[in-house]
Amino acid sequence: MKQAQLQRLRNLLSCPTAPFREALVMAEVESQLQSAAIPYFYDQHRNIVVGVASEKSYQKLLSQRSKEPVRVFIAHMDHPGFHGVRWLSEKCLSIKWFGGSPIKHLAGRKVWLASDDGLLVEGSLKKVVLRKDKRAIQTAEVVLDKPLEDKKISALKIFGGFNFRAPIWQSGKRIYTRAADDLVGVFAILETARQLQAINKRNKKTKRPPFIGLLTRGEEVGFVGAVAHLESGFLNKATRPVVAVSLEASRTLPGAIIGKGPVVRMGDWRTVFESGGLKVLSDLAVKLLPGKHQRRVMDGGSCEATAMTAWGIKTIGISLPLGNYHNEGYEGGMDCPAHRGPAPEFVHLDDIEGELKLCQGLMKASLAWDDPWQQQRSRLRKNLKSYQRHL
Ligand SMILES: [Zn+2]
Repeated sequence: MKQAQLQRLRNLLSCPTAPFREALVMAEVESQLQSAAIPYFYDQHRNIVVGVASEKSYQKLLSQRSKEPVRVFIAHMDHPGFHGVRWLSEKCLSIKWFGGSPIKHLAGRKVWLASDDGLLVEGSLKKVVLRKDKRAIQTAEVVLDKPLEDKKISALKIFGGFNFRAPIWQSGKRIYTRAADDLVGVFAILETARQLQAINKRNKKTKRPPFIGLLTRGEEVGFVGAVAHLESGFLNKATRPVVAVSLEASRTLPGAIIGKGPVVRMGDWRTVFESGGLKVLSDLAVKLLPGKHQRRVMDGGSCEATAMTAWGIKTIGISLPLGNYHNEGYEGGMDCPAHRGPAPEFVHLDDIEGELKLCQGLMKASLAWDDPWQQQRSRLRKNLKSYQRHL
């Protein structure tokens, strides 16, 4: 990966984020989009729509007469974390957790705290109460390392998550970070947009198929931003074909090994994805990343592809195998002193590069979206011919 590109990844992964508290990620996204002169707008729920400058041009694109599907790449800007609820004293904040989390070795663990203006201070957890289903933290108290300079700041403006030696660091080709899920997906969308912009500038005649990036909010508590976007009806009112591509980092599983390439995600915990679109993606992966991609149902969690599918949008997915999913130290590694206690997530640089290749591949014109099984049919017909006399 080129230095400048790696720096953009580092900048994104350094952004503090939590469900509904994505402002610092948004600021970084805006700065990257503006530096590359890529159009974007905010929908009414503050999801970012990349690739078009307004609602009007988004609607126009979705109603153009064309057989070429609009690719809607989707990734979320949040990561499990907490919101402040109220001050118990100058140095103690009661908090509510949003999304998944580790459930062991929590007392005394370090957290960071931020507001929409940036990082504020560090602290540590105490009095952790788990949810009834025991699958994540529900509430806790955070003891601040030192009182805040701004004593008037409302508890409700504060958010946070688990803290490690740094927001991001590298060890060999491994990238350790607070929130690879799903800021690496956001990165992949921004890089794909950037590359398309460069190609279109160089070569004004060969138009690439239309690209949309949908960067959503509040995914970790049930795809809230994505559902709000779907409910506003843009995609369902499209009169030309649409294919949604969910980009996620998902819990590593047998057959989805970290460092062995991006995963053609055939489904998630809830559902399988659209078979025709998957055939296109899978053929593309064989061509672009021979021996360097993986293929499986990633059923360690569900993702925004579920929401897209539920609203009738043709959806496929690419996953990055992720270590220590939702900061739960399943795989261990650096800064993980206790199995299944808080730990940084980690991903592999080769997998990210593979994912970028696949995204770019999906933007080629005239892929077989219309009839993905045609080659397979002719192979099977040939086979039928050779065995027909036995029938
Ligand atoms: Zn995710």
